[in-house]
Amino acid sequence: MLTPLVANGAKDTTIKQPKVVSGDTIYSILKRYGFNDNQRKAALGQGLLPKNFVISTGDLYRVITDKKDSKTEIHFFSKKKPLAYSFWRKGQQTSGASKVPIKYETRVVTARGAVRGSLVESIAKTVGDDLVAYRFMDAFLLDYNIPKGLQKNAPFSITYEKLYDRGQFIRFGEVLRAELEISGERVARVFKSLDEGGVFLDTKTDFSDRPFYAPVDYIRISSLFQPRRLHPIKKYRKPHNGVDFELPEGAPIYAVAAGEVLRTGRNRFAGKFVVIRHTNGYETFYDHMSSVEDLKSGEKIRAGSLLGQVGCTGHCTKPHLHFVIKRYGRYLNPILFIRNYSYGQRNVVFFAKNSKSS
Ligand SMILES: [Zn+2]
Repeated sequence: MLTPLVANGAKDTTIKQPKVVSGDTIYSILKRYGFNDNQRKAALGQGLLPKNFVISTGDLYRVITDKKDSKTEIHFFSKKKPLAYSFWRKGQQTSGASKVPIKYETRVVTARGAVRGSLVESIAKTVGDDLVAYRFMDAFLLDYNIPKGLQKNAPFSITYEKLYDRGQFIRFGEVLRAELEISGERVARVFKSLDEGGVFLDTKTDFSDRPFYAPVDYIRISSLFQPRRLHPIKKYRKPHNGVDFELPEGAPIYAVAAGEVLRTGRNRFAGKFVVIRHTNGYETFYDHMSSVEDLKSGEKIRAGSLLGQVGCTGHCTKPHLHFVIKRYGRYLNPILFIRNYSYGQRNVVFFAKNSKSS
């Protein structure tokens, strides 16, 4: 038996769950529900929201209005924790903000389909959510032979969580299992939860020991790590000391692990770049960025922190991220050190507009 959202007899209380539409901000939503300037400033000024909290088109939020108390309360649901950030106002005077714990009921759903057009769009259509589709893609993040091996009508299956609060769907949870036919073979990956985020495992590779998350949301590898690469025309050694992730200009780039900003800058080869120092002698490099966030040398950052955007600055012919991992000064093959899971704050709107076939 589901607990109703409104206690019996609370006739003065109404609850709505609208969706975030394009152009919405938390500020504009509060305004829509009658928060005046001072109330918005006071409520948002409490610093309740985590720095990288964003709302995306299609997200649900909750509006609770109580006529008797002339109180309006708006809940924005955390995408990582079982809680909502609540902003409330009373009449046109007081306002405030607080965290509200949510006890989610998890329902597990399996959907099956066949690839028509691009893989990510086929999944998104079947499931009805872009983020879930990108999480499915994570499971195959490091299988750079997918574009070749993906046949028309290739079957897929996806098992994922839907989170409910008192009978109302709130948001999607993790993708628990992803299965796809690649080159005529069924490949299945199973989700394993880690302290932060998680990882997809298959029977051959244990990704859970890997120290880093993927630096980008969606991976299409255009050039692999080739420390002994010969220049295609001139035949001299021109090593490729990193891996190239091809993404549209402006796609977000995230820190692959917690660490400290070593430096940011610009030169004629790397273009705009960021270098992060991690524990155990690791350093990661992010090159050719179109723009870099306001980062200071020595600044501590978390895994998944936004570093900047994909671009084509410096020595570059097509927008991509040239990503390098060094340990104690030695170049490593990044593909062997990153998990098939992206931990950044995803921006669905960006990808919905720019989705390309894969
Ligand atoms: Zn490169």
